[in-house]
Amino acid sequence: MAEISSAIAIVYRKGRDFLDLRTLSEKVYRSRTARTVSGSVAIVLFLVQVFVYGGALFTQYQNDTNQQVKIEKALISTAFRYSNIDSLDIPEALITDTLVGLVLLDADDRLLLNKGNTLDYEHGVTEPANAGFVESIRWEITADTDTLSAIAYVSMHGQFDDVVRNGLWLLLFGLVASLIAAAVSMIGTARYYIMPMERLIQALRTSREDSEGRVPEPIEVTESNDLKLLAEEYNGLIEAQRKSARQVKVKQQYLEFAAHHDPLTHLPNRLMFENALKKTVRDAIADDLKFAVFLVDLDNFKFFNDQYGHLVGDKMVAEVGNRLRTMMRDIDLVARLDGDEFVVIQKDVPDTEAAEEVAKRIMNVATAPYEYRGFTLKAAVSVGISSFPDDVHISQDEEMLGEEIVNNAAVALQEAKSNGKNQYQLFNEKMRLRLTARIRLEQDLKMALQDGQFEVYYQPKINIHTRQCTGAEALVRWRHPVNGYVSPEAFVPVAEETGLIIELGEWILRTACNKTRDLQQLGYTGLNVAVNISAVQFTDGNLLPMVSKALKESKLTPELLELEITESAVMHDPEEVIHSLHQLSKHGMKLAIDDFGTGYSSLAYLKRFPVNTLKIDRAFITDISSDNDDMAIVEAVLGLGKHFNMKVVAEGVEDEEQLNFLKSQGCDIAQGYYISKPLSSEQYTHWLERWPYGVQGGYTSSLLELPLSDQRTGTDG
Ligand code: C2E
Ligand code: MG
Ligand code: MG
Repeated sequence: MAEISSAIAIVYRKGRDFLDLRTLSEKVYRSRTARTVSGSVAIVLFLVQVFVYGGALFTQYQNDTNQQVKIEKALISTAFRYSNIDSLDIPEALITDTLVGLVLLDADDRLLLNKGNTLDYEHGVTEPANAGFVESIRWEITADTDTLSAIAYVSMHGQFDDVVRNGLWLLLFGLVASLIAAAVSMIGTARYYIMPMERLIQALRTSREDSEGRVPEPIEVTESNDLKLLAEEYNGLIEAQRKSARQVKVKQQYLEFAAHHDPLTHLPNRLMFENALKKTVRDAIADDLKFAVFLVDLDNFKFFNDQYGHLVGDKMVAEVGNRLRTMMRDIDLVARLDGDEFVVIQKDVPDTEAAEEVAKRIMNVATAPYEYRGFTLKAAVSVGISSFPDDVHISQDEEMLGEEIVNNAAVALQEAKSNGKNQYQLFNEKMRLRLTARIRLEQDLKMALQDGQFEVYYQPKINIHTRQCTGAEALVRWRHPVNGYVSPEAFVPVAEETGLIIELGEWILRTACNKTRDLQQLGYTGLNVAVNISAVQFTDGNLLPMVSKALKESKLTPELLELEITESAVMHDPEEVIHSLHQLSKHGMKLAIDDFGTGYSSLAYLKRFPVNTLKIDRAFITDISSDNDDMAIVEAVLGLGKHFNMKVVAEGVEDEEQLNFLKSQGCDIAQGYYISKPLSSEQYTHWLERWPYGVQGGYTSSLLELPLSDQRTGTDG
């Protein structure tokens, strides 16, 4: 029972759905397609019916008419066949509603009878004619021996009325049938076309609206095959869109990662570090927390790279990065800032002791050896530490605070580096002051060359045996407009670091060459000049062209130019330097190793250097008369020089005793305050004029007899 009633309910619901005429008519009314379809169906059907029924009616009318005429003819013929023409008596009864008139003619067409409505005949019409719905029919009747012609006037009114009535009925029927057909086609269009279409459109709209700017959901349509195909097309598009959206997303994620991470170590990069630092500062201010920033820089990484190659260098960086990351907690941050520079943010650091502990751990972890392709590699690192809030001025905004703390750590790192590397340093205010002074020095240095604040001084050298002047060492002097004289030991390293030494060095070389050429023109043809060349100039790659240019411009013979390079600079990159030295040597310039004995020269390298001169460092000369060790060193250097056929110059000779000792040991050349302090260009010329022992290869003074001490002039800057 229940099943039946639910089935009935379904049928009812379906039926109601189907015949919900109001909704349907609304849909039809709104749908132009449905209106056109149903209208066309109605018109076409109606016209077809009119033609079909119209034709049928006309045929029926003709058939009825012929039938009527046949009946009338039969009646009249029968009536006359048996009558006598002369006594022709046509009963009145023969004239009826149908046969409205009758005319009889004899064989000679003489009128025998004219009865009823025979209008046409009286008007002289002999041929049967139609007047209104009256039809005249003429035929022959044979009665007895005579033949008569009868013209019967038959009215067709009855038939015509029938046809009209039937026609009207048929029209009405046709109209109703067309309307029903139109309504059915309306319902069909609405149900099988408009409604599914609307549902499809609605499904598309919902899917689009629900997606809220993302790729829409696929839709499902089961109604008709055509719509299903349409939906499938749409879903295909959606799938393609989803696929490309997925690709875009993956790409975006990759770009996002790449923008914030370093490709080598996969650690956060500078950008991400800066953002993290800002947040850390913000949180620390809000919650009154302390944290510390550690800048970790590999020591001598460039050397390491050059020695083992960049691939190994990269592995080392990646390994250190990985170790730092593993060592730190998840709440801390390890980022790679630059080539060999890492930064660590350690949160909740209560005091400097705790920060130092972390620094020690960082150093232990980073410097532990590791194996790579059979090499045992060991990094050395320097660490600069700055703590928040102790090391910053809390009044600034978050960004400035972040910047300040990193700068402080950089200052501390700088300190660790210049104190000999492989150590950590906690930031303090004095460091900052030193750094500020240093920065100011850098800035002033940049201006100094343009402003002509540099001068070249010349410190004479003599042949110890003949005491003739052999030439001079060119030494740069900086007269600072405010601070006065600045020692080259203070500014040359800065000029080296900033690269200014390239320009400055070239200027010194040119000035020294020009001065020597001027002296040649005065008659001192055998004087040489020694110019200090910094390691930076050696590795710059432009040294030879630069020196050649200076020589060419000054027209000085290359043999009179000696280039001094310190022992430590030579040892920094021996292979590279050996190559440069050979090139310079080939062009005839003389080469000297300066400050010999302080830079841990490898003697193995020494024999490969095309060097002409060793300059024994001042430190060994000072106590030469009293210190046995220094004595031994000087003797050893002199022995080396002799062995390698190099001249040996003793620097910093300050008294006669030292000079005599050096002479007794076979040293060739001496330079020092005892002979002369460094002299300005003018003073040097004067000095030469008055030097009693004369000048190598040239002019000789007449003041030979004067004691050496009375000849000393000049300043040390
Ligand atoms: P250096 O090349 O070893 O120069 C010798 C230094 O010893 C000079 O110092 C000189 O004034 C000083 N000196 C010479 N004789 C005596 C002496 O008897 N007693 C004492 N106490 N000192 C003496 P200065 O001019 O201050 O130069 C220091 C260093 O600065 C130089 O050492 C050199 O390494 C560098 N330097 C100087 N001028 C230049 C330059 O033009 N270019 C480059 N690259 N470096 C330079
Ligand atoms: Mg020197
Ligand atoms: Mg020296």
